Amino acid sequence: ATQEETLGFQTEVKQLLHLMIHSLYSNREIFLRELISNAADACDKLRYEALDNDALYEDDSELRVEIEVDADANTVTLRDSGIGMSRDEVIKNLGTIARSGTAEFLQQLSGEQQKDAKLIGQFGVGFYSAFIVSDEVTVRTRRAGEPSEAGIEWRSKGEGEFTIAEIDRPVRGTEIVLQLKEDAKEFADDFRLKSLVRKYSDHIDVPVRMPKVESAKDDDGNPIEGSDVTTWETVNEATALWVRPKSDLSDDDYKAFYKHVAHDFSDPLTWSHNKVEGKLEYTSLLYVPGRAPFDLYERDGARGVKLYVQRVFIMDDAEQFLPLYLRFIKGVVDTKDLSLNVSRELLQQDPQVEKMKSALTKRSLDMLKKLAKDDEAYQTFWNTFGSVLKEGPAEDYANRDKIAGLLRFATTHTDSTTQDQSLAAYVERMQEGQQKIYYIVADSFNAAKNSPHLEIFRKKGIEVLLLSDRIDEWLMSHLTEFDGKSFVDVAKGELDLGEIEGEEEKKAQEETAKAKEDLLKRVKDALGEEIQEVKVTHRLTDSPACVVLPENEMGFQMRRIMEAAGQ
Ligand code: ADP
Ligand code: MG
Repeated sequence: ATQEETLGFQTEVKQLLHLMIHSLYSNREIFLRELISNAADACDKLRYEALDNDALYEDDSELRVEIEVDADANTVTLRDSGIGMSRDEVIKNLGTIARSGTAEFLQQLSGEQQKDAKLIGQFGVGFYSAFIVSDEVTVRTRRAGEPSEAGIEWRSKGEGEFTIAEIDRPVRGTEIVLQLKEDAKEFADDFRLKSLVRKYSDHIDVPVRMPKVESAKDDDGNPIEGSDVTTWETVNEATALWVRPKSDLSDDDYKAFYKHVAHDFSDPLTWSHNKVEGKLEYTSLLYVPGRAPFDLYERDGARGVKLYVQRVFIMDDAEQFLPLYLRFIKGVVDTKDLSLNVSRELLQQDPQVEKMKSALTKRSLDMLKKLAKDDEAYQTFWNTFGSVLKEGPAEDYANRDKIAGLLRFATTHTDSTTQDQSLAAYVERMQEGQQKIYYIVADSFNAAKNSPHLEIFRKKGIEVLLLSDRIDEWLMSHLTEFDGKSFVDVAKGELDLGEIEGEEEKKAQEETAKAKEDLLKRVKDALGEEIQEVKVTHRLTDSPACVVLPENEMGFQMRRIMEAAGQ
């Protein structure tokens, strides 16, 4: 090695390393999954780049991952024949955390181990997980297509700095040597590693190989000294999981694959695996995660599916295949109907993609409908992603009925903050003669629940949806009806309870209104310009007065949002 240089990790990496080593201790075998996952990604990338530059294969087109153990030296080595990294790439990829928002995210971490262990699952911890089991990690790599002098050696003990040096490296791709910690010796064992490869990496379509030493036997069946031959044995299934028939796949297979595509630690809530043949030909495997990524609400947060064209990896986060309000869905789409040279720009204009998007949207909504049969799982989904799904009716007019069926609300039926009531359940509970679905929007659940506007409804036993999420008013302005019943904001306009009110009640109200004309005039004069109108109302049963917005007026929530935007 020439000219060794010592560099410091980005602060966030230091934090992450520290946290990881302490919080993932009981789960440390995942390091192998992460490193194999990266090696397989590197092979995918080479295959993709080589589509229009064959030379990158350098006469060795066999993409593979190899794992070797040296029990005496207490090391594990992973090698891949993938794309490799240049010097700049090594520094960027193994010295910083590139993902946006990570710095803020890390600041939220508390240092309480329990909580952090969960939070950390929201990243793909990736490469740095090598330090959970290693005292020192050495990476030797060369980018495909570069001369052998362009090899790079990166070395670190995971304590704040790493060294980097130029080396001669005749083979392309990356080799990672883990010097195992004293208490991680268990991993320097072929048998253990093989079972981990099968457990975590069966579904990866690149072969993961391990050496098998065989020696010739003499006539008595004893090994002949010096006759050892090493052959490489493929340990994993090595076929892309989504290509295999459903009947071959267990729940555990699907879950393991999810962790690979979604960079998530925890299990998905559900998935849907489909092969479509006909005018469009594609296979999709879509998942609903069990937890939100930290960047769910960030503009440039990761979204979309992994795109393959005829088994060749094309890109991560292909966001053209699902609408924004389904950005939490993870998975894979593999199609024959796109060219291998497709780019993000081309995807945007391709009518085939538009058709797939619409089919995958339906597929996702159906998957959620099915999930909704399991109350507990659906509640987890709703608590995690409900407010994202609420963007749906505005973005996807065509599917708004389906989306409406998936929404869950807090209502006066339970008076609990938990959003667990469907519109279908509301409709079932409607009073005789009730034709509308009533709702109220406020800044907080308590403000909604205690609003004087609800007095008459509570008295008459009519259920009202209690809305207090930021997005709720926006949602309601795009939901016009459900099951033929229109939505009414109880705080706006004339309150018409329709047939729920008897003729006599109506008459009595009109008489009261007449009798109080004088009072109304005095109040109006006193308030002057501040208001439009003063009316007698039957909305209230206990409170003396309340503020009401005209029918077509923007609500309080929207006003505030517009004001904040400087409108
Ligand atoms: P992620 O895989 O989610 O991007 P990682 O921490 O696992 O995050 O890896 C960081 C980056 O390092 C990868 O995105 C990739 O660019 C690079 N990298 C890691 N391992 C390899 C490898 N074996 N070959 C080439 N590049 C790699
Ligand atoms: Mg990774």
